[in-house]
Amino acid sequence: MLTCSHCGRDFDVRSDHRKYVSIGVTLCSLTCLRLYVDSRLPLTVADFEGVGTNMRLPAMNGETYYSVSLGQSFRSEYEGMFAEVMVFGWGWGDIRYENHVVRLKNTIRKIYIPDFFRETKGVWLEVKGEFLSGSKKKFLLAHEQLQGRVILVGPNFYNDIRREAMLLRRHRLCSGG
Ligand SMILES: [Zn+2]
Repeated sequence: MLTCSHCGRDFDVRSDHRKYVSIGVTLCSLTCLRLYVDSRLPLTVADFEGVGTNMRLPAMNGETYYSVSLGQSFRSEYEGMFAEVMVFGWGWGDIRYENHVVRLKNTIRKIYIPDFFRETKGVWLEVKGEFLSGSKKKFLLAHEQLQGRVILVGPNFYNDIRREAMLLRRHRLCSGG
């Protein structure tokens, strides 16, 4: 059983999703994810060790996802849909994409580029459909260094995010926006 870091409710997820939910901040729903980030006290990048500006624009090689409404490419459809939900659904106008490089301590030249950063809260969001080799270890290191302020948006949120993104698209079509 897991306990939600926002509402305190006990909940569970599919067994194959448990490894994504049990890291650091555990959130029972998309609503709790939004409210949890909203309720953080604002910190700035200067409060964290090893965080620098990502000078390179995201290098989009291979398969990418282009969000028409945001006019921007993302590495995956999951990232793109989540960006649309944050910006249009939740009104988070301060979301940045891959704008930081984190130099991980106690590793040899290991860097981590978080997916999203919410500027007014000092919270990073990492979208993961699955952990590829080494990425879980990297995330754990980053999680520790960033004082628990990087939240994993794992596959357990996929269906809800997809549904929200589709609703928002339909709404934009209806309102001609
Ligand atoms: Zn909750």
